[in-house]
Parts: sequence; structure tokens; C-alpha cells
Amino acid sequence: MYSVLKFGGSSVASATNISRVLDIVEKEAAKGRVILVSSAISGCTDALLSGDREQFRDMERRHGDIVKRLFTGADREALQNRLDALFLQMREAPAAEQVTYGEIFSTTILAAKLATEGYKTEWLDSRELVVKGDEPLTYRRIREALQASRADVFVAPGFICRNAAGGVDTLGRGGSDYSAALYAAAVKARSLQIWTDVPGIMTANPRQVPAARTIPRMSYEAALDMASHGAKVLYAPTVAPAMAAGIDIEIRNTFAPEGKCTLIGNCPDASRWIGVASEGNVIRLVGARLPGIGGEDARETAGNALREAGIAALGMTADGPSLDIEVKPAVLDQALRALHRVFFQEMPVTEVNLFVAGDGAVSRALQQMVRESAQAVRERTGKQLRIVGLANSREYGTDLGGNPVIGKKGDYIQAVLETAPKGSLFVDATDSETLYLRYPELLQAGIGIVSSNRRSFAGSYADFAAIHLCARENGVPLRYETTVGAALPILESIARGANSCDEVLSIEAVVSCTLNQILSGYRPGGASFASLVRRAQESGLTEPDPRLDLGGRDALRKLLILAREAGIPLEESDVKVRPIVPETLLQGSLPQFYEGLEAYESQWASEALEAERQGFRRRFVASLEKTEGGYVAGIGLKNVPPVHPAYYLRGTENAIIVRSAFHPYPLVIQGPGEGAREAASSILNDILR
Ligand code: ASP
Ligand code: MG
Repeated sequence: MYSVLKFGGSSVASATNISRVLDIVEKEAAKGRVILVSSAISGCTDALLSGDREQFRDMERRHGDIVKRLFTGADREALQNRLDALFLQMREAPAAEQVTYGEIFSTTILAAKLATEGYKTEWLDSRELVVKGDEPLTYRRIREALQASRADVFVAPGFICRNAAGGVDTLGRGGSDYSAALYAAAVKARSLQIWTDVPGIMTANPRQVPAARTIPRMSYEAALDMASHGAKVLYAPTVAPAMAAGIDIEIRNTFAPEGKCTLIGNCPDASRWIGVASEGNVIRLVGARLPGIGGEDARETAGNALREAGIAALGMTADGPSLDIEVKPAVLDQALRALHRVFFQEMPVTEVNLFVAGDGAVSRALQQMVRESAQAVRERTGKQLRIVGLANSREYGTDLGGNPVIGKKGDYIQAVLETAPKGSLFVDATDSETLYLRYPELLQAGIGIVSSNRRSFAGSYADFAAIHLCARENGVPLRYETTVGAALPILESIARGANSCDEVLSIEAVVSCTLNQILSGYRPGGASFASLVRRAQESGLTEPDPRLDLGGRDALRKLLILAREAGIPLEESDVKVRPIVPETLLQGSLPQFYEGLEAYESQWASEALEAERQGFRRRFVASLEKTEGGYVAGIGLKNVPPVHPAYYLRGTENAIIVRSAFHPYPLVIQGPGEGAREAASSILNDILR
């Protein structure tokens, strides 16, 4: 039985390295006949191709050094004479043939060394045995040569051969691997080992992607795919002869012989994705051969990963189970690393199960967002989101598989308590006035709460504090960033200050989207104030009864939450609310209200005009200010000058201005303050925090 061992150029590049090769051969020779196929020493093929005399001399010196280190006495002299003669022959050879001498030099040294070590050694002339393009003839010649010999160890140059026209030729750059496969197939070797300077075939080229790791086993097909799309570790034509003969290919590291390696054979691939290779500016994500599965699968994940790295894919084309991705050459390595990270660097994944309450616009936007971005979220954060419960005010549904359907009557909270896996979160996306009364039960059961329901945090301060305490005692999250300014990071910013012992001196919050919209849309002489209110009501921007907005109720709740977040135990009764229109207008029926509002237009217009004349704009501001006698809180219309951040608010934008002891200038947060998508994205952020 034969083993075929092929050594690459760096494995034979120096006397030290060659002694490693000898150790490896020694182990194999104990098991049977060995055919050792070798490349030229590293750099030699390039030097010979250059035709440059200086480089020839340099190569001659390097070979001479190896001989000096490996041999002594008469052996050394005899071998040096042989090499001198071979170098002379090379210099006199036709230019096209000079490149074929590198493998002759290296194998001449190796064969001589093995002979001096006492092996019955024979050097095989690949130029006679390997016939380019004729595998049957090649196999016959190799078998005949071996049968006629009594040697135990054969040494054959890789890369070189004879062509159909009878001339000396090569098998192409990197071709020694293929030579070894031909020798192995000819004798049905029990083992074909490609010894190189990396630990096998890796998920990426480690020079480009430091996180690359060895692929322990792979199919012939996957190996061929990697090799023919830029993975230099294996010369692609090597695969076919080995596969046809059913011989496994081992890719091993000469510099860590017992370390990690790759076995290529007739085995299914272990995972969906094998590795990334690149050629020019095209990256190939190599996929496993699995029935009915195509490279299209990877398109979305690959696109997300690149986008996140700030890279645009110029094109993507599926080819069988693999996907080709074209990028700009300048970003190739970055792109390889980004793709490698998502497809091959496994992150521990934590499951996050969500029980959602509420079936309004926010809840629907959240459900859609989770559906569409769960994959991207998992890749980015290692968290697997799953909605496992849904409910409206009457019915609910739970399903740990992730497809809950509303339809059961009964107590949703009770069902949540009974089914929630560890680490579940309860999402309150309702407008319920009372749901918060159940928060403690959930928190005590270890279920965290994410809420967009500001009613839950704007009751008495005692209730607010009790919920917080309960969350803290049970070590579970309680988050409600969405309750003020939707997706704007307002509460977080205030809590940061409070946590670092900064003291809030004042807060001004222009947080009523409805009123901002109406106020910033009003022009004296244009559409009447009443008609703007009516339009806002009709477009669903106001509460069903718009007087709740005009009365400042919503702004009041937000101010309470802001203050409490800053550590100030503000109560509703502490806040002086001045409705935007006289109290009397807010009474009676809705038609009466609109009638009164129309009649009020002249006064409203004149006030607005006066403010404009003085260079002010009117804004509905909730404010809190530290005075010597404690905090003073109020809500009402305020004239703001152009230096005020709220002066330039557009539409439903919000602005929060916080002055604190640590900072001479206020913190200003401004941006879109409402919208179902904004609220949903804010909830999602709270979930992922
Ligand atoms: N020495 C040749 C080359 O550098 C063949 C080989 O190393 O496989 O391409
Ligand atoms: Mg190679």
C-alpha cells in the first residue's frame, strides 16, 4: 500500500524545514511505501520564470546552503556536483524549459537525503511518467515504474510533465498538488496528504481574515468550489483524480503536523456554509451540497452584513449552492471579514420571548418590525426575538413556537405567568388605564416589562416608585423610553444625568405632537385655529375628543414621567396647567366646542399676531424649574424667541431642553416625537437594551 505525501515550497525552503519533512516521511514509511512529491523551494519558480541571472545565482546559493547544512563529506561533494551540473543545464536550456528545473533541484536534494538516512530511495522522473492531458497513460507509466522498482521511498518532482507533442511542460502554477493526485490515483493510494504551511483549508484566507478557522471535513465538491474560486491552498485540478479513485485528501500543516487539518472526501458537508474565497474583486461564499438548496439563501444576510460594514455590493449572483458577491477592490478585505463574521463566527444566541399586549397601530408596527428584522437583529446582537403572545382588550393567544393567534377569552396576564419561559418580556403597547396594576405580578415572576403606555407611569408617585422597586428587587428590566418623545432618547439621557449625580435645574418639554402640529401650522389670516384642530382630529392625530389635547393632559403625563426620571417625585397636583384656550370652551358638547372655538378666532388671531410682531412663536411647553422653594411645574402656551430651540420646531416634532448643574449649556434633544413606526422602533430598542 502506498501513501502519497506532497510538500509545498515553504515545507522544503530550508534545511530546518526539510528536517521536519524527514520526520513526517519517517512516520509514513513505517506503514508502507511512500511517494514523496515536492514543489520547488519557495520563490524558485518565480526566479526561474524571471530569466534574471542575478536571481538564478541567488537560487543557486540557497540550494547550496541547504546542501551544506544537510550533508557532510563525500555525500555533500557529490550532491553539490550534481546540482552544479543541473544549474548549468538549466542555464543552457531553452527559456521556456528553465521553469521546470525548480522541482528537479528540490527533489534531487530530498532523494539524496533520504538515501543517506538509509531508505531504499528512488527518484522518479515526472517528465517521463506524467503525460499532460492523458491520465490513463500517466497511470500506466507510473504503475510500471513502481512495479519495476524495489525502493521503499520514491521521490518525484511535482509540477512538471511531458505534453502530447513530446516536449517538457508544466501542469500550471500550483500544479504539484495535481501531480500528487495523479501519483495517488495511479496506485490507488490509501492516503493522499498535501503538506503545506497553513492548518488545512480554512473558512477564509487567514492572511485576509485573521478569524478564519480550519474546516475539519468537507466534500470533494465543496473543496473544488473553494479551490476553483480563489482558495490558493489547494490546486483545483487535484480534486477530480482523487475523487474518481475514491481517495481522501488530507491537507496538513508541515509546521504543526499534529495540529488541525482538513479531510476532503466522500462525506456530506457538516454545515450550510463552507467558507469564503476571493478572486479579483469577486467574493465567493461557498455553500454545502444539499439537495434543493441554492446560494440565494445568503443574499439577505450577506447584504445586511456588508451594509453594516458600510460596503455596497456591486452585484450578487447565485451559482448552485454558492453565492458570488462583487465589491469594489479597495474594500475586498473588509468585505471578506464582514461576511466571514456573519457566516462563520458563531455568536451565542439568546432567545428573547415577547408577550405583546395591545393590537393598535404601535403593536402592529412592532410585529412587522420583529418579523422583518429578526434575522438582522440576531446577526447584530446575538438575540433571537420571538413574539409568543398577543392580546387585545378582550382576547389573547399564546404560542411558544412564535405564531400566536388572538382568539382565547380569559386572563392574558395569567396565561403569560403560566407559559413565559425564562428571560421573557411583556410589552405593554396599550392605552389601558389599569394594566399597570398587574405589572408587579409579572415582575415578581421574573418577566421584564417594556411599555409605551404612559398612563402606567403617570399615576401617583407612590405607584410609580412601587413598580420600580419591584423590578429592582426581582432583577428584571423595566423600560418605557417610548412614553416620552417616541424614539427620541430622552428618558435615557435624563436617567444618565441622575445616575451620575448631576442635578436637573430645569426641564422644558415641547412634547405635545398634536399641539405642535396645530401651532406650527397656524398663520393669522390663514385657516382658522378651529379648522386646524378639526383637521388634526380628522386625521387621527388628536385623542377622539381633541379637548383632551388642548387641555394639556398628555403633556402633563409626559412631564410627570420626565420629572420622576430625574428623581423628582412630582405629582399631578403639583403642576399648574393652563389650557391653550379658556376653560369655558372646553365644556359642553363637541359641536358646541367647535362653535365656541370659531368665535374665539379673532382673539386667538390677535394674540398670535402680537406674538409674531414681537418676534416670538407660540409653543405649548411643559416645564419644571428648580427654585429656592423647590420645584415649580407648569404647562401652557409660551412665547419663544428665535434663540429658543423650540422656535424652529416643524410639524409634530418634539424638543426637550434640560439644564443641569454639571453643564453650562442645556442638553437639547429634538426630533420626530410620534408615529407608530417610531414608537415600535423605540420599543424594540428597549427590548434589546
Ligand atoms: N512550483 C510550482 C509553482 O510555484 C508548482 C507548485 O508549487 O505547486 O507554481
Ligand atoms: Mg500550492
